[in-house]
Amino acid sequence: MALPAAQPCPTCTSELVTLTINVDGHDLIMRSCQTCDTRTWALAGSEIDLEDALEHVGTHAGRRRRASV
Ligand SMILES: [Zn+2]
Repeated sequence: MALPAAQPCPTCTSELVTLTINVDGHDLIMRSCQTCDTRTWALAGSEIDLEDALEHVGTHAGRRRRASV
């Protein structure tokens, strides 16, 4: 196989959409299901809670926003 298989949704087994966001040198990965709206987050290969993910993104975005104003 040339390409890795897409991750199936744990809830409805649809294909998950994977988004990778680089936050302060770490890969924050969001897997989103467009069928049942399940979302899972992982940071540097480990699953994390949504709250933790938002904290990482929020800190990063807040810093960027403040710098650009
Ligand atoms: Zn799903």
